[in-house]
Amino acid sequence: MFLEMAINFCILFTFSVLSYWPFQNRVRFHFPFPSIHPFLIGLISGITGLVLMGTGVTIADKVIVDGRSAVIVISGIFGGPIAPLISGLIIGVARIFLTGVTSSSVIAGVGTVIGGLVISLFSMKKRMTFRNAQFYFYYFTIQTVFVLAYLMEFSWTAATQIVYFIIFSFLSFFTVLFILRELSIHFTKVGLAEKLSETDFLTGLNNNRMFQKVTESITLNANTPFSLLLLDIDHFKKVNDTYGHPIGDEVLRELASRLRRVTHKYEGIVSRNGGEEFSVILQATEKDIGIEVAEMIRKAVESVLFQTSNGAELNITISVGLSTFPDNGNEMQKLYNQSDIALYHAKNTGRNKVVHIDEIVKTTLQSV
Ligand code: GH3
Ligand code: MG
Ligand code: MG
Repeated sequence: MFLEMAINFCILFTFSVLSYWPFQNRVRFHFPFPSIHPFLIGLISGITGLVLMGTGVTIADKVIVDGRSAVIVISGIFGGPIAPLISGLIIGVARIFLTGVTSSSVIAGVGTVIGGLVISLFSMKKRMTFRNAQFYFYYFTIQTVFVLAYLMEFSWTAATQIVYFIIFSFLSFFTVLFILRELSIHFTKVGLAEKLSETDFLTGLNNNRMFQKVTESITLNANTPFSLLLLDIDHFKKVNDTYGHPIGDEVLRELASRLRRVTHKYEGIVSRNGGEEFSVILQATEKDIGIEVAEMIRKAVESVLFQTSNGAELNITISVGLSTFPDNGNEMQKLYNQSDIALYHAKNTGRNKVVHIDEIVKTTLQSV
């Protein structure tokens, strides 16, 4: 009996981890179409239940014990209310026919279907989590114990076997739950670390690393023009020198939020590339619109004073340089250089202005 239960536990453990894994979006192999995940989880858990029953322990005439209640409850944690309903249905119906239809198989099978249904209904009211899953499990175990007690004629052997079943269920359920919860915490941490490594801590914008990643994929997939804006605060050093670094930081944060606000409509990808230099990628935006949006940004910065925590109201301006894909460059490095040249030009010709790289080319040609 012990060996069979150990095998049952191994199957439960392996299948639970395997069916948990592909539904995490932090892993390489990840099931697409999230809306069908609850059904898939229900199905996989149902199949797991079938394997568990196939290797379960027969403790009395056609009475089988296995880890099916654990698998049904666990399916509800990451599949929502649909999953226990489906897995309960699959396992319950299979249980009725597995050993030939008898009164015990019908009672056991119907019991499993009802268990899945009750769990599903309750988890509709209160979403199942790693924390509260145990209560669903207690319910299912108590129900199973009643079914077993009803199906088996009373004897000390039967009572002992039910106790074994309870111990086995608790051990396997809580071990699997513990491991899955550890994995889940691990995934959350990895997700957070990934986010932090791509986010600028001061402004919450993309950092330069993320900017590189995004631009790479955009140029690879671009088949429509897009514009790259580089922005730099004018005389920012003066702000730091006059008001101190923390106030400078406040200005950077406020600028970031204005950039987000103005470019939101255009699905702009805003990054802080370093210091007081920012960039905006305006997807599917041709030169003229690019210049228009750049002007809007410039005005949004210039026209409203920056309020700081020390009560000061600062008049901040920015210079913007931009270029457009693919006319000014069909790879990111080239485009970046062009926008940078345009920005440099904006700085050298008075600041607080927008310059598109084409304007410089035109001016140079005219002056020749
Ligand atoms: P320009 O108009 O030519 O751009 O002049 P500028 O003073 O803005 O440019 P400069 O490159 O001389 O100075 C940039 C300043 O930005 C210097 C640095 O102290 C400040 N800076 C860079 N990163 C941060 C930051 O994270 N926080 C604060 N408060 N200041 C920063
Ligand atoms: Mg600078
Ligand atoms: Mg500057």
